[in-house]
Amino acid sequence: MTHELPELEYEYDALEPFFDKETMEIHHTKHHQTYVDKLNAALEGHEDLQTKDVDELIKDLNSVPEEIRTAVRNHGGGHSNHSFFWKLLKKDTSAKDKEIQKALHEMFQSGEAFEEAFSEAALKIFGSGWAWVVLSDGKLEIITTPNQDSPLNEGKIPIIGLDMWEHSFYKLRGPDKAAYLEAFFDVLNWDQAEENFMKAKE
Ligand code: MN
Repeated sequence: MTHELPELEYEYDALEPFFDKETMEIHHTKHHQTYVDKLNAALEGHEDLQTKDVDELIKDLNSVPEEIRTAVRNHGGGHSNHSFFWKLLKKDTSAKDKEIQKALHEMFQSGEAFEEAFSEAALKIFGSGWAWVVLSDGKLEIITTPNQDSPLNEGKIPIIGLDMWEHSFYKLRGPDKAAYLEAFFDVLNWDQAEENFMKAKE
């Protein structure tokens, strides 16, 4: 088995005007595709690893031979992170009355305070990386990871994740990361976040 680029469940322009069509198309067909291709290239000749789900692979990097470990970490991480991210984007969903909203309110007192804390963490990322809400030892936590590292690398389960690489916003917004973060909260798919949360708690 080789890894494949997943189809998006929506059109490239579905998130306009918050996320633009051109960025979405390049991000999916070029950037994500490259992670998939390079992961497949790294796994060539390692048939036992080719049949493993990408999330299983990056959860247990120590079981990956050292000569391909960095490639699997980066490109497997890129494939996993982007596959997760696409599902988390949808306009016009609401956190209202969801378990994830209750849990975030317990931590941050309000939705606005959560958004502020998440944005603050995301804006502190130096260079390329991701901002996350994860479940770690049964508790929600805001973390960031560098490059294409996944929370799964360290045994944390992603609930919400945002790509903070320039390729995800620069075309539309230039260096204005704050505007990108604001737009993210307009397209954050709370139905998917709730599903992720419920699954993580099992
Ligand atoms: Mn990306």
